[in-house]
Amino acid sequence: MKELVVLRIGHRPRRDMRITTHVALVSRAFGATGFALEGGVGVLESLERLLGNWGGKDSFSLRSVESPKTFLKEWKASGGKVVHLTMYGVDVDSKLPQIKDLGDRIAVVVGAGKVEKWYYEIADLNVAVGNQPHSEVAALAIFLDRVNGGVRGGQFNDGRIRVLGSEKGKKVIMV
Ligand code: SAM
Repeated sequence: MKELVVLRIGHRPRRDMRITTHVALVSRAFGATGFALEGGVGVLESLERLLGNWGGKDSFSLRSVESPKTFLKEWKASGGKVVHLTMYGVDVDSKLPQIKDLGDRIAVVVGAGKVEKWYYEIADLNVAVGNQPHSEVAALAIFLDRVNGGVRGGQFNDGRIRVLGSEKGKKVIMV
């Protein structure tokens, strides 16, 4: 997929700081090409610093979105498709062929609190990772794993820190 942007809507600055950061980290680590956030500039600033250390400035974009509805309307007008992750949707595994048929520009919407009906309607697909309430971090991780055929195991070439996976202890090199 050429462009797979995760759009986090409804971020509540005090309450969601940590979980929104995790949504962004999972997006980057599991193969999305970008993360867009409604509000939450402070979160984006700390993520910018993380990209400087761990890499991704070249291959993973971060942006703040004033109006997620405008963002999605423009995304669709330019030929992009929208997948909304929701416990009320249709199970991801049964929708995989349709997800793959959506083409190579997908925005994946994840919510925080209650999500307005508008998003269910603009979405090309409303996809569930099981029909029980759980977490946007878990739902996104499983969705990206399915769509990208596994977790991105490699490193980001532009990072200053590299981890060498090891049986015991921590092996880290600074480049
Ligand atoms: N009842 C809320 C709603 O309106 O969907 C659930 C909010 S939940 C804490 C936050 C986000 O996690 C949801 O907007 C959705 O993106 C994601 N999520 C939670 N459970 C999910 C599931 N079973 N499948 C897919 N996404 C899920």
